[in-house]
Amino acid sequence: MLQYYIWTIGCQMNKAESERLGTYLEQLDYRATATAEEADIVVLNSCVVRQSAENRVINKLNALKSLKRLRPNLTLAVTGCVVNSEINQLQKSFPYVDYFFKPGDYPPWLGKDGLGMALPQCPSPSTFVPIMQGCNNFCSYCIVPYRRGRERSRPVAEIACETKELVHRGVKEVTLLGQNVDSYGHDLPDQPDLADLLKELNTIDGLARIRFLTNHPKDMSPKLIEAVACLDKVCEQISLPVQSGNNDILTAMRRGYTVEYYRQLVVQIRSEIPGVALSTDVIVGFPSESEPQFQQTVSLLSELRFDTVHVAAYSPRPETIAARELEDNVPLTEKKRRLNNIEQLQESIAAEINTQLLDKTVEILVEGRKKGKWQGRTRSDKLVFFSDNGNYLGQLVKIRIEKTSPWALQGRVELNSLN
Ligand code: SF4
Repeated sequence: MLQYYIWTIGCQMNKAESERLGTYLEQLDYRATATAEEADIVVLNSCVVRQSAENRVINKLNALKSLKRLRPNLTLAVTGCVVNSEINQLQKSFPYVDYFFKPGDYPPWLGKDGLGMALPQCPSPSTFVPIMQGCNNFCSYCIVPYRRGRERSRPVAEIACETKELVHRGVKEVTLLGQNVDSYGHDLPDQPDLADLLKELNTIDGLARIRFLTNHPKDMSPKLIEAVACLDKVCEQISLPVQSGNNDILTAMRRGYTVEYYRQLVVQIRSEIPGVALSTDVIVGFPSESEPQFQQTVSLLSELRFDTVHVAAYSPRPETIAARELEDNVPLTEKKRRLNNIEQLQESIAAEINTQLLDKTVEILVEGRKKGKWQGRTRSDKLVFFSDNGNYLGQLVKIRIEKTSPWALQGRVELNSLN
């Protein structure tokens, strides 16, 4: 029996696509292996959104070059965002790679049947569902539109059908994925939006929770906020990348909103969705970001107090507007200092927010076990661990919180509600 190995780095979209590719290979009687050395097919699902991720991809490709030399019959394929439109150039740079194929495409040696419906037989209780590909925004620092192309939405009926099948196979929670889910549907014939899709999925029996990623502040509509507030299965959790707390930097980033607009949006979301958990993304060290401009980002984060902040140091990405037109003039040491500064700030904010859950009861969906403990997430996406000898996989369980940290909560089973 032939064996495959998939190495994945990057965003949830890559993880979802790797999961589907693996399922598809299994339908063709391939079996997964734990290492590339044992495999007949190795697929590298890549990310180049930051220089550090691209470096890891290149290192992995170099390691696989030796393996291919030892085993010339090994099929080596590369997908994900390293694959640009210049596949000929990639083939010249990496002649030992057999196939390059674009993210979300079909593996060229397997034909074009079924990847879209290659659903895992035994999926995790919480599973990703890609609802669209690509992005039309062209934020000045972002390579994604150049690699994943323009927005293409999947029809509501197709997503609903797939979600029903996933629920039939044991899924309790779906996270709808797209680079900018707030613009979902504008390219479909009847132009449904994300709120319409959430409404449809909310009717699916057996599905307990729905999440969605990632939002763009300029495209988040009042209708969507109302849908999150009203639909019982849609979790009170919103990711809303702000990227900077300074208007000049936001303009240079081509984000399409101001700090004032963003602040008002957060106020509106919090007033309409009580208890909502908000996460955000920030880039530090964008070209010409001064210390006072950086401090405005720090102030905004202190003021808005997000549950989670993902912070990254700017690195120029080929083809992007920022890489072509702006000098990468904030020194690396300074970028690292700013990054650490925000991480420390967020650690203390998250510690304070999570402490408020001490001695409270929360409901989690149990997703698996790690180091002998069950783990799951609250509707607000808090990671919770508990110890118990029962089998809780895929169950909604009430947990009394006994210990908190900035990153996770621990507790004990209070009341087990089987769903
Ligand atoms: S919205 Fe901006 S940051 Fe997000 S994928 Fe599109 S271009 Fe990149």
